[in-house]
This record gives sequence, C-alpha cells and structure tokens, in this order.
Amino acid sequence: METSKHELRSKLPNVATTIFTRIGNLAREHNALDLSQGFPNFEMDPELIALTTEAMKKGFNQYAPMQGYFGLRTAIADKIQRLHGRTYDPDTEITVTVGATQAIFTAITAFVHPGDEVIVLKPAYDCYEPAIVLNGGIPIPVQLNNTDFKVDWALLKSKITAKTRMLIINTPHNPSGRVFSENDMLQLQEILKPTNIILISDEAYEHLVFDERVHWSAARFTDLASRTFVCASFGKTFYITGWKMGYCAAPKALMTAFLKIHQFAVFSIHHPVQRAMAVYLQNADRYLGLPAFYQQKRDFFLGQLDRSKFTFTPTEGTYFQLLDFSEWSNDSDEAIAERLIVAHKLACIPISSFNEGRLDHRLLRFCFAKTEETLEQAAAILNRL
Ligand code: PMP
Ligand code: GLN
Repeated sequence: METSKHELRSKLPNVATTIFTRIGNLAREHNALDLSQGFPNFEMDPELIALTTEAMKKGFNQYAPMQGYFGLRTAIADKIQRLHGRTYDPDTEITVTVGATQAIFTAITAFVHPGDEVIVLKPAYDCYEPAIVLNGGIPIPVQLNNTDFKVDWALLKSKITAKTRMLIINTPHNPSGRVFSENDMLQLQEILKPTNIILISDEAYEHLVFDERVHWSAARFTDLASRTFVCASFGKTFYITGWKMGYCAAPKALMTAFLKIHQFAVFSIHHPVQRAMAVYLQNADRYLGLPAFYQQKRDFFLGQLDRSKFTFTPTEGTYFQLLDFSEWSNDSDEAIAERLIVAHKLACIPISSFNEGRLDHRLLRFCFAKTEETLEQAAAILNRL
C-alpha cells in the first residue's frame, strides 16, 4: 500500500523493531533452536488452564473491575505480605496489568513530564527508554561494568540532579542475571531518602533467584516502598508469557495517579484468567518451588558446556545465562549471534543492544527455560564451535 503524503513524524524516530523480534524472526527463517527471547518451551500447568476454563464456563466473561478482580488483588497483597512483610491495601494499592510491560509504561506515563530525567541502569531491558522518551523525558544512563554488573552507587548518586524524576531498577536483572543484595537496596534507600524521586522496581523475575539467594524486593524497605511501583509478571513466573499478565503495587497516592492513565489505556484485563489466578496463587508451592526448578536447569545447561570455548559465571537469577566469547573472537556480539543462527542453527540475544551506545562486551544471552533435550542440543552446538 502507498504511504500517505502526510508527514509521518513518528514520536520514536530512532527506535527500530526490538532485538527479540529481529532475532526471533531470523531464528524461524533458519529453523534454529531458539534460546533467544525469554520464554519456556515446556507446557504450562494444566491446572491453570482448567481453572481458567472453569471461570469462563461460570460466566466471568464480562469486564473485570478497572484495577482487577478484587479476589486476585487480595491474593497478590497476601503474597507480598507473606514474602516481604509489607501491607498493600488491595482496594487502592494493587493493580492487575497487561504484563509487567504495561505496569512500567503506565507508571512512567503517569509521572514523567517533558524535561524530566529518568535514571536507567545499563544494560537495561528494552521497554524503559522508549516510554521515557514518548513522555518527553530524558533517559540518563548509568552503565554497569561487564564483569559482575554491580551498581556503582556513588556513580549513580552523582547522576541525580534537580530534574531527576524517576529511577528504574531491575532485580533479578535482565540480561545479566544479577540479583541485588540487601546492602544494594539499603544503599539505594539512603541515596533516595533526601529526594522526591519515584522508583520503578522491575521485579519480573522475582521468583527466580538461585543458590539460596533472597529476592530483596523494594517492598521490604519502608522508605523505598513509600516511593516505589513494584512491577511483576505472572507470564514469567508461571510459564505463560503469552497471557501477558502482571501486576504492580504502590502506595495509594502513586497508584491513584497510575489509575488515571490505566483506566483509559487499558481499563481492565482479561477477566477469566484473573479469576483463575486468584485461586492458583493460594498454593504458595507453585512459586516457592521455582528457584530449585530453574537452578537445576541452569546447572544442567552449564554442566553440558564442558567442552565449549565460552567463559561464564553461573547466573544469580532470572532464566538467562550470559556466555562470554571475548577470549576467542573479536567479532561483534551481533555478528556472532547472527553467525550462530545462520551457520549453526542456534539463536541467542547479543547484549550490546541493551547497553549505552551499544557497548559491546562480547556477551551473549541464552534462555535456559527449556527442556533438557533442547538444552543438550544447544550445548552440543556451543561445544562444537
Ligand atoms: N521486565 C523485564 C526485565 C523483562 O525481562 C520482561 C519480559 N518478560 C518484562 C519486564 C515484561 O514482562 P511482561 O511479559 O509480563 O510484560
Ligand atoms: N522479556 C523477554 C526477554 O527478555 C522479551 C519480551 C519481548 O520480546 N518483548 O527475552
């Protein structure tokens, strides 16, 4: 079709199709084993399907309340209370969203004004900066080092100005897998205390932490909680990324501003799955068992890489593992990722696309939320390189 003669004036002229879509398309074109985009290749729990079917049959097929089905908001509030000791009022402080993505987008839209600065830790998941820019905000990157991805808190503090409106953190961190320690969170709390900065804590991988680590949610820290949107993803937690279901929790005043946007952008999300999730969440084993389940997958995958030339540190959280090829190639991570797909039929994510100025540390991200058979096949390819 011919384009209109009107000037198009995109609001995101410099944004291309996401790395996940580009790599995913290339992987399909070459029939490659896909360890790129973060989704499991094993089946979801049939119990959740049964509960959703039941909710549909019972007739919960019309609009849910704007903030989400109250029973689900209560179940979420109970879970946060049990895990992190913070009380959120399900009536006014919890909203069910279209994945963590919409929670993050809406929180940014609700508070970022033209000219406001928003600090983002790089490498950063790709949905933050476009949302900031769309709202006239200015992303202020703080690049993490490429060895342990620890935050240099003094550096971060030095980036705060009178214009800093918001800060976005992500723990467990995509793509590095790093999990913030209690000390990290306490330092962050001290830095933010004298400011009015709003925090978005992207906790999409809240239940995926390994080697007995604790997920230190921002909800655990009184001063942080008072300024934070905790954003989470049922898609990541329960192997249902295609359901695009998540939630956010924040103090009433913040949530009230959030809902002003949410009611017009989304209004409410799919009702029957909310009914099902409210029941499903009652059994805490369903999420408390996840660290052991995924740690076993991580160890299985890494155990298979005994003959590969890559170097790595076992990931602390998420279901992503970084592999470092800097010792055996000077090619760019994009070039290696493309060659892996085209010549070796294996797809992963080059992480320069998440970095400031596309900084290339020669790291590739592999998703190990896969069956052992798939992980074995992937490792065999990597061992042959
Ligand atoms: N944040 C991070 C760090 C992610 O990796 C993802 C992808 N799941 C999201 C947010 C978005 O989550 P959702 O699919 O629930 O929108
Ligand atoms: N969160 C997924 C990942 O990091 C990607 C989701 C998407 O493609 N937007 O792989």
